[in-house]
Amino acid sequence: MGRKDIFGFDLSEINNINEELVIELMEEILNEDKSICRCHLCIEDIYALSLNNLPPLYVQSTFKDTTSQDNDLTRVLDREKVEKAVREATNKVNSNPYH
Ligand SMILES: [Zn+2]
Repeated sequence: MGRKDIFGFDLSEINNINEELVIELMEEILNEDKSICRCHLCIEDIYALSLNNLPPLYVQSTFKDTTSQDNDLTRVLDREKVEKAVREATNKVNSNPYH
């Protein structure tokens, strides 16, 4: 990818925390239903589509350090909403795969 720094500060640690959750939920959902295609193309499609249907949720690298409890991270993550987006993306890609 491109540049991720400004004025000498590295910004590569600023991540969309929905990405991690999408991957976790994709694993769950794809393991539930083995009939879903899990080729490289479909996996990428489901991942991109899920994230495009969710608002980004970027946190600074200090977020985890300054919040003593994992609870705080769970509080900002809307697991139900992310799961719904992943399920919708999975169904969409599965019923109309790119190949
Ligand atoms: Zn496929």
